[in-house]
Amino acid sequence: MIFDIVTIFPDLLDSPLQEGIIRRARLKNLIDIEIVNLRDFAEGPHAMTDDRPFGGGEGMVMKPEPLAAAVVSRQNIGPQPKVILLSPQGRRYDQTVAEELAKEAHLVLVCGRYEGVDERFREQYVDDEISIGDFILTGGELAAMVIIDSITRLLPGVLGCAESAAKDTFSRNLLKHPQYTRPQEFEGHQVPAELVSGNHAAIEAYRFIASVKRTLERRPDLLKNETFSADEMALLHKHNLLRLVQKNAEPSRMT
Ligand code: SAM
Repeated sequence: MIFDIVTIFPDLLDSPLQEGIIRRARLKNLIDIEIVNLRDFAEGPHAMTDDRPFGGGEGMVMKPEPLAAAVVSRQNIGPQPKVILLSPQGRRYDQTVAEELAKEAHLVLVCGRYEGVDERFREQYVDDEISIGDFILTGGELAAMVIIDSITRLLPGVLGCAESAAKDTFSRNLLKHPQYTRPQEFEGHQVPAELVSGNHAAIEAYRFIASVKRTLERRPDLLKNETFSADEMALLHKHNLLRLVQKNAEPSRMT
């Protein structure tokens, strides 16, 4: 998968893209990340990438010509890209959107700065707009990193078994169960007995119930989109959780 990041601050992204799983994925050629310096596409003696807003008012607006030229320069590199503008006004990013975008072969991520980008660039060149949450960042670079990081770990071959994404929080509409490692006792607190029982079924049952309890406690809203197998329903019943879960779920999902 190819990620292109269009930015006026290329150095900002350098180090995070050279560490950990992202670094490994790049070395294995599972992903290719190109940082596109917007200033290389700006014309005139000052290579301006922004200007004052028509109509007056505060801040600067990113000029459409360098943005358009930067996007066009990536259109003949690999598969036809999907152009995404990072914007607090975009659709909200979550795991479902990450899974959807992980199916693309080539993304161009355009990072805004200042007051944002000229509307005509957005209308003519942008396929999708994404917000990583209801808050305002100084620029789109960190949002682009969030998107690249979360998509990369979904791509086949990127994570080893030890880091598998299949059972993560949000892979179902449940938060993941709490995790424990050695030592078995820490400051007088023991690891739950089921986890050291060696009984695989008991471990799975414990983890499922712990995951449901955590979801009920912190994100009951997720349960309305979750479905449970007959075995899971029986476990919920055994732990007196069925009624509570049913209260939060769509009635049709629990029958
Ligand atoms: N004036 C804009 C507004 O009120 O909607 C905010 C501009 S913001 C200071 C500058 C840039 O940061 C945006 O163009 C966008 O690329 C990026 N940005 C800010 N918040 C973001 C968010 N929540 N998600 C994605 N990108 C964001």
